[in-house]
Amino acid sequence: MTTLQRTHHKGDKGDEGRAAGDPRHAPAALSKIPALREAKLLAVRDAKEAGVPVVGLYCTYSPRELVLAAGGIPVALCGYKQDPLPAASRDLPANLCPVVKTLYDLAATDTCPYFHFCDILFAQTTCDGRKKAYEFMGRLKPLHIMDLPQLPDAPYALPLWRGELERLKQFLETHTGRTITEEALRDAARATNREMRILKRLFDGNRRIPAPLSGRDLLEVMSVTAYSDVRGTGLALAEELLAEIDADTSGDFRGAPASAPRVLLTGVPVGIETGKVIELVEDGGGAVVAMENCGGYKVVDYLADEEDPRDMLTVLAEKYLRIPCSVMSPNTRRLELLGRMARDFAVQGVIDLTWQSCHTYNIESTAVGTFVRETLGLPFLHIETDFSPSDRENLRTRIEAFLEIL
Ligand code: SF4
Ligand code: SF4
Repeated sequence: MTTLQRTHHKGDKGDEGRAAGDPRHAPAALSKIPALREAKLLAVRDAKEAGVPVVGLYCTYSPRELVLAAGGIPVALCGYKQDPLPAASRDLPANLCPVVKTLYDLAATDTCPYFHFCDILFAQTTCDGRKKAYEFMGRLKPLHIMDLPQLPDAPYALPLWRGELERLKQFLETHTGRTITEEALRDAARATNREMRILKRLFDGNRRIPAPLSGRDLLEVMSVTAYSDVRGTGLALAEELLAEIDADTSGDFRGAPASAPRVLLTGVPVGIETGKVIELVEDGGGAVVAMENCGGYKVVDYLADEEDPRDMLTVLAEKYLRIPCSVMSPNTRRLELLGRMARDFAVQGVIDLTWQSCHTYNIESTAVGTFVRETLGLPFLHIETDFSPSDRENLRTRIEAFLEIL
């Protein structure tokens, strides 16, 4: 099998996830996603062959504007697949978060076509698992690590992080042979903001009752907008979806019936192949109307101020330092975002998902649960699981019981 043939996602099933006879239907534009995924990959290959630098990045803390300003393609590399992980089993401890094991395995076995096309990589010191796995990945391709300050409100955090963006700039300039100018950075911030505003409008469409997109639909959209970046392709789809939903008068574009309990998902990032919790909520009659996690709303909610007169590295450093991941301490912005989303999307309950062995999200769940129950006055469910289907029936029981109280 060639690397280009490996892009089929097990989640490519259009409306199959809906019950037979269900009158609801997804917007037609969603059916283009599998072909779009292939097209995006081919576009990366073609760009690489044409000499465009392909830069792999691993986390939401990666300032992709610098890659764009260097004339490169930023490719967000993910860690979601259910297949056996031979390299991870050989090289990493078993009790490690499945995201870390998977992203390492995809790289070490050269089975991620996006990784295959990357010329260089960069990542950050976030959780312990990622940080240590990146040491292995640095043996596979040139990899630059940014030292992410984890006390985001400390007075030294912004200057420290701005210095790390400066070091990243030097790394990119050295490896691409191109100079990153202030003007190019500002243009890249404008272009990124345009993209994020389109996505935000699409996500915000689910504030309606009934929500036009199901949680499964959202995952499909995120698979072409958040996890791979050839600019324009995923965004064109998002705009087409927006137009289709806006023009609809039938009311049949719905993620779930108007009576379905509306759920906000928070916690760890989720991919199509690892969306079992979303599937179980929707199979149980609920509607995942919004996702706060990486790839979802968190990514579109924090923009750089493109008109800020300060230098762009400072402006971008400020933007990325605001991202509310559980590796930060304290991570108060996550609660602020959850409060806003719970209100704006009129949710009736919050589910917090933690991948097994993710200590930061696991520990933070206690504070999130207290906030959701006591400040928002909403029911809360914490789920800790991995990518395997082995606990599916157990989770189904817990999720159905949760939906009953909403
Ligand atoms: S959850 Fe945290 S560590 Fe993971 S991708 Fe998001 S920002 Fe990065
Ligand atoms: S889920 Fe947790 S442990 Fe896994 S990569 Fe993300 S922050 Fe790290």
